[in-house]
Amino acid sequence: MVIAMNKLSKNTVPFPVPDNELERLKDILAYKLEDDCVMENLDQICVLARSLFDVPIASAILIGHDRMTFLGRSGGMDATSVPRKDVYSNYTILSDDVHVIEDTLQDERFKHNPFAQGPEGLRFYAAAPLYVRKGVRVGAFGILDHKPRGFSEENKMRLRALADLANKELQRRQVLMDLKRQRDLWSQTARMTKVGSWSFDSRTQVITSCPNTYDILEVDPERGEPGKQMMEYVIETLSSKLDADFAALVSRGAPLDREIEVITAKGNRRWGRLYGRAEKLHDRITHIAGSLQDVSETHETASKISRLAFTDSLTNLPNRTYFHKQLQQMGEAADTDIRPGSLLLLDIDHFKEVNDTFGSGAGDIVLKTVTRRLNAMFGKTCRVFRNGGDEFAVILSSELEAENTDLITDGLMQVLRKPITLHGQNIHITASVGLALKKQHSTDMDQLLKDASLALTTAKKEGRNQLVTFRPEMRQEQIQTKRLLDDIRLGLASGMFKPHYQPIVDISTNTISGFEALMRWHHPERGVLTPGAFGVAFDDPELALSLSDVALEHALERIALWRAADVTFGSIAVNLSCFQFQSGDLVANIQEKLSRWDVPPECLTLEVTENVYMGRRASQVASTIRKIHSMGVQIALDDFGTGYASLMSLNKFPIDRLKIEKSFVQDRNGGAVVQAIMTLGSRLGMKVVAEGVEDASQLATLYAMGCDQIQGYYFAKPMPPQNVPEYVRKFANNGDTENYAA
Ligand code: C2E
Ligand code: CA
Ligand code: CA
Repeated sequence: MVIAMNKLSKNTVPFPVPDNELERLKDILAYKLEDDCVMENLDQICVLARSLFDVPIASAILIGHDRMTFLGRSGGMDATSVPRKDVYSNYTILSDDVHVIEDTLQDERFKHNPFAQGPEGLRFYAAAPLYVRKGVRVGAFGILDHKPRGFSEENKMRLRALADLANKELQRRQVLMDLKRQRDLWSQTARMTKVGSWSFDSRTQVITSCPNTYDILEVDPERGEPGKQMMEYVIETLSSKLDADFAALVSRGAPLDREIEVITAKGNRRWGRLYGRAEKLHDRITHIAGSLQDVSETHETASKISRLAFTDSLTNLPNRTYFHKQLQQMGEAADTDIRPGSLLLLDIDHFKEVNDTFGSGAGDIVLKTVTRRLNAMFGKTCRVFRNGGDEFAVILSSELEAENTDLITDGLMQVLRKPITLHGQNIHITASVGLALKKQHSTDMDQLLKDASLALTTAKKEGRNQLVTFRPEMRQEQIQTKRLLDDIRLGLASGMFKPHYQPIVDISTNTISGFEALMRWHHPERGVLTPGAFGVAFDDPELALSLSDVALEHALERIALWRAADVTFGSIAVNLSCFQFQSGDLVANIQEKLSRWDVPPECLTLEVTENVYMGRRASQVASTIRKIHSMGVQIALDDFGTGYASLMSLNKFPIDRLKIEKSFVQDRNGGAVVQAIMTLGSRLGMKVVAEGVEDASQLATLYAMGCDQIQGYYFAKPMPPQNVPEYVRKFANNGDTENYAA
């Protein structure tokens, strides 16, 4: 045993210090043995010791850093503490043994101790160490007498037994303190994480909750709310579901874990996470233990995030993701704010052109304006979504539908057509709309969406700027279109697509200036078909490419043949589809064909429609066309007047010929448009071709306007290539040019 003697000033008697002094002091501190130190049970053990050993004093003491205090005592002085240097027990805490001093005045260590002196001096001392942990002796339990005594081995054993009792008390205090500390920690954590606990007694059917639960529900536990069970704070829309969950928990022990929205006793909205687990005894549920956590903050953050994820930043409308989510929820008949009715899908027509012509800022303004108009129109009972780009969706509420769908849809088209003013300029926009009406009890939202899309596609295909309501036949049409495209693919593969040729006549010189190659399907059963029967193929990127390529190949073959046969056919025009400009190798392709067929470029004209010039790739298209034009190939702008292009903006492209769309030519009131195009065209140095000229009066009008390039049935319908040489010959001879068409 190590005894470190403390170093004190001259007059003080030195006392030994155990080598684990630090640990000792730590234990005393940790279990607060020095504060409120009197322990009642220890007092009683002291009383017991006094009578057992017939001594005037018994005490349980604690030896602190510089003083001794009492944990319990019976008899003796009144002082509450004694300086450590004078304490006999300094020696007791050095070992586990029972320490006996039969006469202090006979012992060198104590004979000068102030407590040993005089008639009331403490002459006899016997004690056993006290500890909380083994080996860490914090004090002593002992007896004292004013007269010297002997102390038998048996007495030592008895004293030790009593000291052990005292030790048990200390340890009990330790356990209690540890427990209290743990409970404090738990309740602190619970407060910090805002968790409250509750329990349900199956017998009494009563829910009891801890103060934290009251806090979360903002219930004053003092006043209580008799009859108000915790569940009653849950918002109404949820309560039936929660009741079901709770019943399952109580009857079957199905674990409960649900996010709930509550309205607190003070009327605040909060989100909580409710857990419940059943406790069983002999397979019977006796008890439910649960917790309620206030997750309002997390919920707030989560909903902020989802608000961002589900909102379109430009228009503030819910976005496509949210649209699909909402549809799905409707399908599951889950909670949604609106009672779902029908579905509207809306696309702004030619939106890309608006952007390209007026800048993307203009596009944003258009989108915001449309948003405002839709919101104003559909109000709060319906829901408007921006599905991306120029696409919007509206879920019409059944309330609204109960009113008048027709009125609404008509109103919608009118509202959308109102011009939008931008930098003092009016932009006219239109939209294509597909509407699918919901069948009364159908929950198949996928189908509803498909139907609305199909209606929208139909609206676009049938010329845009209109609302089309889904009809079941459309599904059939869609299937038929798919079938038709398959047939066309087969027809292409077996070489059934070959163009016919329609002359373009220069009436000022009465010569043929060229022919336009127009694709025909030489159908084995249905005969020669025009694009009226297979035009859908021009909307299919892959087929449009193939068809135009076939047209080019055939045209060049014919040019080569006719040149060899000295037929004066002028220039052969071939229609290009916009997809050809996207494939990237158009220039090389044309170059290759021209040289393979050994055809001079000026024999070929390419017809492009104005929409090819518009759009995102306008500059790429422009450079492609310039390259082709610089090779010597002529360029004609087809169907002029139907799109958005202004002639001025087209001036930067090389255009040799303008073709006036036949509807202007054939329209009795189209004269002004034709005249305007004529004037502009000639000012820009372009030849103007009038298409669709069917009779002499149209011809006369055009002639009077100065239009000399004429294409139309008046001269000839598109004819098979083998008829061309004959036609050319007869035309030159002013002979009979009728009946050349197939
Ligand atoms: P388009 O390029 O505007 O061709 C002129 C259309 O007007 C042709 O219709 C022609 O037959 C028709 N037409 C000519 N004169 C008259 C007339 O006096 N009265 C009437 N009612 N119609 C007349 P078609 O051959 O049915 O072709 C329709 C459209 O199909 C073409 O319009 C063109 O856009 C497209 N197309 C035809 N062949 C091809 C091709 O090889 N490639 C591409 N990409 N498109 C083609
Ligand atoms: Ca054409
Ligand atoms: Ca045309």
